[in-house]
Amino acid sequence: MKITLWGVRGSIPTPSTADFVTSRYGGNTTCISIRIPGQVVILDAGSGLRSLGLQLVREMPIKATFFFSHVHWDHVQGFPFFIPAFVAGNSMALYGPNLNRQPGFIGSVLERALRNQQESLNFPVQLADMPAKMTFTDLEDGATLELPGTETKLVVTAGSLNHPGGSFGYRIEERRGTEVKAFVYATDTEHLAKSNPKLQKLARGADILYYDAQYTEDEYNGRDGMPHKGWGHSTWTHGLAEAQEAGVSHLLLGHHDPLHDDWAVARIENDARREGLKVGMKVTAAYEGMELQL
Ligand SMILES: [Zn+2]
Ligand SMILES: [Zn+2]
Repeated sequence: MKITLWGVRGSIPTPSTADFVTSRYGGNTTCISIRIPGQVVILDAGSGLRSLGLQLVREMPIKATFFFSHVHWDHVQGFPFFIPAFVAGNSMALYGPNLNRQPGFIGSVLERALRNQQESLNFPVQLADMPAKMTFTDLEDGATLELPGTETKLVVTAGSLNHPGGSFGYRIEERRGTEVKAFVYATDTEHLAKSNPKLQKLARGADILYYDAQYTEDEYNGRDGMPHKGWGHSTWTHGLAEAQEAGVSHLLLGHHDPLHDDWAVARIENDARREGLKVGMKVTAAYEGMELQL
């Protein structure tokens, strides 16, 4: 599978300025594509989705499958700017967590969140007026889906994580006979006092774990001012511990804090890489435009 990172910033897009440079790691919010021949999977629709859309326009008609970790802004805000959604003949299957379902509500929570985002007060084109064909499905914790490609297939498993309002992580396996490659997407998750059994299950033996490393330990604990406990995000130190316990090969740190410029992220990457070396773990900070082949 080919994994491309289109946005790795958390919370809000963070454009680079003269005083606050973010061009190395990128300022767009979360969006990742995973491709095998015959399948395009898109993880989250942060502002990075816009650039992916511009690439996919050259391959139309497209058939894409979205998996949403949750529907907080930084994970859906790119959707109204996804050009292929404006073109008839393209089709999209969209999956999100079955979370926060209000009593009596029938229908897809994901569809409702995307529809609300494009209400006429907020955006000129309503979701229902986007010409591409879309189907919406809310997934249960632990759900597994098979997406056959032309040569191999993807098997996607959802697992709930620890975040205000909830979030899902996804394990994406490419299977070729008995050969399995696994990429695990675990963003918007706060660590627990001990390792998170749900994350452990999802990440077991993965080749790559993309992990929410928004804060440094000091920021999380509030040593510099405001504590960030209960905000639903984690640190690289906990990412490293989780990755080690799960037997992951490569830890990829993402959901960079909007208060972290390139220097701050580079420092995190350095510290994490150094500690990773001690335990034989490859650690990298995710950056926009990064491509990984598994
Ligand atoms: Zn987020
Ligand atoms: Zn969130």
